[in-house]
Amino acid sequence: MSLDRDDRKFARKRKHLVDHLRKKGIEDERVLAAIGDVPRHLFVEQAFQQRAYEDEALPIGLQQTISQPYTVAYQTTMLDIKKNDRVLEIGTGSGYQAAILYKMGARVFTIERHEALHKRAKHILQQLRYHVTHKHGDGTLGWATFAPYDKILVTAGAKGIPESILQQLREPDEKKPGGSLVIPVGEKEQIMYRVSRTGEDTYNYEKTTSFRFVPLIGDGKHQNLGF
Ligand code: SAM
Repeated sequence: MSLDRDDRKFARKRKHLVDHLRKKGIEDERVLAAIGDVPRHLFVEQAFQQRAYEDEALPIGLQQTISQPYTVAYQTTMLDIKKNDRVLEIGTGSGYQAAILYKMGARVFTIERHEALHKRAKHILQQLRYHVTHKHGDGTLGWATFAPYDKILVTAGAKGIPESILQQLREPDEKKPGGSLVIPVGEKEQIMYRVSRTGEDTYNYEKTTSFRFVPLIGDGKHQNLGF
């Protein structure tokens, strides 16, 4: 696989994808610019490369998927990434979402429970020289070593909100608001939540619309939201 070769054909398809996402309601130009920049075809298996710029989730092995571009754009918009934000992603998968966050200027930490996916994503991101810190493990426990985080993104469907993750969001201070978590919650279908830390033990919950994700599987204790 040549990582330098991003020929005109893929660049043209990428531009069409950005136009499509804009028409679908994605307005954040920084998100669209990152999607217009990151070579998604390098994050999917060879057999799916021609479909890499269609707005669909694709298999990446081990019954997992690279999320649909609209979902990536939607979750990233909800995160409202600022330059140098410390961002924890739970569910590295292909590494594509981590690449988008990196391109937007975030300091990215990402966890994946499948070792083979963790290794493959790490390899691709290294070849692209996208500097992301990786861990193979259970993201429902968060990653205390680098906490607190300005933003946390979960890219798998959770049964509830893992408590360790909430505790790893930054508390607000005079300089910055508290950290926020974007997480899809639910069994068969998930509702997208944004949880913002407003104090030592206080959080604000907002919910938006429904999506379908592969399940978040882990040992972390979670808050039950009534599902
Ligand atoms: N963000 C990914 C990308 O850009 O390709 C897509 C993620 S895929 C929809 C969800 C991923 O979450 C899968 O790779 C799955 O193995 C992983 N996952 C599920 N439970 C996890 C956990 N507890 N900790 C870390 N990763 C987990």
